[in-house]
Amino acid sequence: MRDDGKDFHFPPLTNGLDFLVSAVTSLAAEGGPAPRELKYATLHLQSAAETLFKARLEMHKPELVWTKPTEYDEAKHQSGDFNSCGIKEAIKRLNALADEEEIIRLKATLDPANDDLKRLGDLRNRIMHFGWSDTIVAVQARTLPVLTLLFDFVHHDVLPYAADWEAERQMDEVRGQLKHLTDFVAQRQNSISDQLAGHEHSTTACRSCGQYAVVLDGGASDLECFFCGKAYGTGEEAAWEFTGEDRHSTIKQGGNGFATCPACAASAIVTVRTLGCPTADSYICFGCGSDWEGICEWCGSGGYIVLDADMCDDCYEIRYDNF
Ligand SMILES: [Zn+2]
Ligand SMILES: [Zn+2]
Ligand SMILES: [Zn+2]
Repeated sequence: MRDDGKDFHFPPLTNGLDFLVSAVTSLAAEGGPAPRELKYATLHLQSAAETLFKARLEMHKPELVWTKPTEYDEAKHQSGDFNSCGIKEAIKRLNALADEEEIIRLKATLDPANDDLKRLGDLRNRIMHFGWSDTIVAVQARTLPVLTLLFDFVHHDVLPYAADWEAERQMDEVRGQLKHLTDFVAQRQNSISDQLAGHEHSTTACRSCGQYAVVLDGGASDLECFFCGKAYGTGEEAAWEFTGEDRHSTIKQGGNGFATCPACAASAIVTVRTLGCPTADSYICFGCGSDWEGICEWCGSGGYIVLDADMCDDCYEIRYDNF
């Protein structure tokens, strides 16, 4: 039997939406939020995500927000004396209710491995423990997909079952602010489109803002994101930053860095997605921007890989000559 919810004032929903209103209002502020405001906007957005996914679970069954639902106790639940599940687990449970048990309907696509949610969590951790160096515009762009996801989720999958006047009012507020922020990001994307034109196959997504706006083309000694201005240093330095590894510890552990580029001789070929090919891996040299077909298993260089051989055409020719 489907659970179509009940019409009542539901504190977890209005509480989650309150975090969402706070986050989007700061992020969409004219001229961008002040640094301190930005910090709280990020923390509030993370809280909004947690609270809203759990609110939908709780509308169905309060025990589902407990880490261990079998230990549910109503008195402890009311007083908040329990460990609740995280965002990832909440999404898994929502999907299970929708797909396996067919108890609720979900129109929004919720993925527990959602990259935008993961990045938001990383950003929150950086803020809590280290402070952070991302620019305001990078955080605005990075958080936009999460804001949009939460808005769609509440609009399609929560509000129809809650009929809560206060929640409706909060959603109107979110809608208006979200429109400002979406327009702002789109306008900025437009303003850099000329700089990216013709370089689509060597343009990769920025680690900071998430936009396809880092052009890895040759000649540039210092790489920079056109969208948010993040500086990456030389191609080789950028290669380490993109893989999230540290050069010293990798080499100390016997790793040998990246595959060598036959065009510029730098060891800087990294597997990335590009603006020209966002759905499959490309092998790009961060030193010169050359786009290779793959990495040769024989000589370890980037190259044009011979079909079915895992070998570059040079190695293939040498082997062929020896027979
Ligand atoms: Zn950027
Ligand atoms: Zn190269
Ligand atoms: Zn080879």
